[in-house]
Amino acid sequence: MTVPVLFAASARDWQNYAAPLQAACADLGVKIDLQRQPDDAAAVQYVVYSPDGGMTDFTPYSGAKAVLGLWAGVEKIVGIPTLTQPLARMVDPGLTEGMVEWVTGHVLRHHLGMDRQITNQDGVWQPLFPPLARNRSITVLGLGALGAACAQALRALNFPVTGWSRTPKDIPGIDCLHGTEGLDTALSRAEILVLLLPLTPATDQLINAPALARMPKGAVVINPGRGPLIDDTALLAALDTGQISHATLDVFRVEPLPQEHPFWAHPQVTVTPHIASATRPETAVTVIAENIRRGESGEPLLHLVDRTQGY
Ligand code: NDP
Repeated sequence: MTVPVLFAASARDWQNYAAPLQAACADLGVKIDLQRQPDDAAAVQYVVYSPDGGMTDFTPYSGAKAVLGLWAGVEKIVGIPTLTQPLARMVDPGLTEGMVEWVTGHVLRHHLGMDRQITNQDGVWQPLFPPLARNRSITVLGLGALGAACAQALRALNFPVTGWSRTPKDIPGIDCLHGTEGLDTALSRAEILVLLLPLTPATDQLINAPALARMPKGAVVINPGRGPLIDDTALLAALDTGQISHATLDVFRVEPLPQEHPFWAHPQVTVTPHIASATRPETAVTVIAENIRRGESGEPLLHLVDRTQGY
């Protein structure tokens, strides 16, 4: 039997995903009919989805068994009122690998003080040794697919790592905290803070003036999570007083970051254009194919979103 699957993502995604997704499904023993404009909307069994495809009304596809997201973050999807089916988000090994590389690179930049050497090419010989990783405390907020992998990679480099999540966690080598009290302790240890929380009503502006004040003086903020996790005005004020020495920001409240935004010109801010990581078709198709296989054999889907929590 052929399973009708709607591909509701961008034209570029269609080019990158269509053939590999059909092949990945075939490898798992499921023959799919992947369509961009289905002849019979009511027959569609799965919707492969990303918001940049432009579809916001799921009413014609109310017969579908599940919506399978191509993105890890679902803040633009969970609130769509016509999306009533189970929603799975993307947990892709390639996405995780990319995030580990980006976070590790930016942490090491600040830990080693690389900017001093990169910008100081004027003949001044001034040896300044960075501390060892064992003496630099890092906090990762969010211990999900991405945060846990980054925390473990940083621990493997010998950094003491504190992690924080909503529910209790047990990750070897990581001091895992949770809840409001846990957050205060986690922030107080954050010489380098990495944000890998989803954007939900509970995390919106979590990093505000009081949170920044709890961090050690001169701490670094690295945000590959979502822009609104941070109160921008409070961050700029903390940068100007030296409470925060640098912010490396990959995500923003408005993207692309508007030209007039003070982050662009601030000497202690590094802006990267939402490139920390991306879903990689070569690994992501296996995740989607596995969920279609599970759906067809009546097994529970992987990576289901909890709509009450918003992630
Ligand atoms: P997960 O859902 O796997 O993990 C989210 C983590 O955040 C969990 O540990 C969760 O806690 C924790 N969390 C959620 N809400 C709260 C809260 N209120 N208080 C404390 N902890 C909380 O997500 P991923 O790791 O896959 O992705 C994280 C985010 O990274 C995405 O939502 C997305 O915004 C961003 N992202 C950015 C990319 C980029 O290129 N910049 C690329 C991909 C993703 P618990 O474990 O208890 O549930």
